[in-house]
Amino acid sequence: MNCRVCGSSMSGTITDLPFKVTAATIVVLKDLPVIQCDGCGEFLIEDAVMERVDAILEKADTAVELEIVRYAA
Ligand SMILES: [Zn+2]
Repeated sequence: MNCRVCGSSMSGTITDLPFKVTAATIVVLKDLPVIQCDGCGEFLIEDAVMERVDAILEKADTAVELEIVRYAA
């Protein structure tokens, strides 16, 4: 698979990413598997991973401004 931005090859990696759940709440997912471009850093999240991300975000505590969740938990 090649990057849609710069055309470099992409490879799987593990990273931490913030997701904005509401105007006030951000959830940081740790140890998230993504596919990242070796050239520019652009990344993709696979559908199966995104489904689980959605499920985690639905359960996020929106009473706090920042929640950190380990994806692999
Ligand atoms: Zn790229």
